[in-house]
Amino acid sequence: MTNLYPWLTPIYQQITHAFSQGHGHHALLFKAEQGVGAENLVNTIAKFLICQENQKPCGHCHACLLMNAGNHPDFHLLAPIENKDIGVDQVREINDMVNQHAQQNGNKVVLVQGTERLTEAAANAILKTLEEPRPNSYFLLQADLSSPLIATIYSRCQAWLVNVPPQDIALSWLQSQCDEETKQILTALRINYHRPLSTLAFLQQGLMEKRRAFLRQFWVYYIRRSPLELLPLFDKELIFQQIDWIAAFLSDALKDKLKIKTNWICQDLTKGIQQFNQKQTTLGLLKANQIIQTMRLNLIQINAVNQEIILLDGLTKLITEVFEK
Ligand SMILES: [Zn+2]
Repeated sequence: MTNLYPWLTPIYQQITHAFSQGHGHHALLFKAEQGVGAENLVNTIAKFLICQENQKPCGHCHACLLMNAGNHPDFHLLAPIENKDIGVDQVREINDMVNQHAQQNGNKVVLVQGTERLTEAAANAILKTLEEPRPNSYFLLQADLSSPLIATIYSRCQAWLVNVPPQDIALSWLQSQCDEETKQILTALRINYHRPLSTLAFLQQGLMEKRRAFLRQFWVYYIRRSPLELLPLFDKELIFQQIDWIAAFLSDALKDKLKIKTNWICQDLTKGIQQFNQKQTTLGLLKANQIIQTMRLNLIQINAVNQEIILLDGLTKLITEVFEK
């Protein structure tokens, strides 16, 4: 049977219902948000198409057993190798296999992971196959939501959007996976853009506690005006998350100033933010948000050797251009 995440069930049922009715599309494209478990959905659909029993995927027929062991001869995975783009040779190999008869007398399934990483030549090669559907051959293409796709591929597929789930569904799933308090889970969900799997990893890695500790130090830096005290607490592995934590604090402060009550990220720090805001102005907070965004951008664009200088520069500007103004 399936082990689908609950928010993926409706889309899974719609797709498999169409196949059961005999009008499933031969090429399904899944444009997916990160951290929502799209691979779980796509893999389960592949298993559904490969299974040869009535209750699909049954998990115990010969096809299912081969599939679960990673040995089904009519299932093919096309994915970037060693993080390189998917090349035309890889696609040709797949095309050859699709042109042959199925070895297990069932469906042939090609799963493409990282569709946005097909080179132009590879995309053109796969396009030919998508344009001339073979009987019992199915393509499942998974692509990152934020990456652009070649329009011709898009036009040959039936596209599905795999987005973040509604908050109540994500919350009840997370409550079944961890012991955190509801307020903590909701804050973690917001920090992680409502992506349930990212949120769970965040909670399990103890990042909620690290964030609180880091923001406490940010407060100390703010009170003492001491960038050199905060600087060593930036962690190379977490630096962008740490900046996001500060950015969320400052953007919530701006929302508070503007009397916007909704969509706060730091629900667990409302008192701290209000206290902080007694000494801030709207213009100052706008400036502070800009400084953090610039710092983030510079960290992405400029050589890692200069990370400390960029951080120190940003933290100093917050003091001279916002807190002391
Ligand atoms: Zn089966």
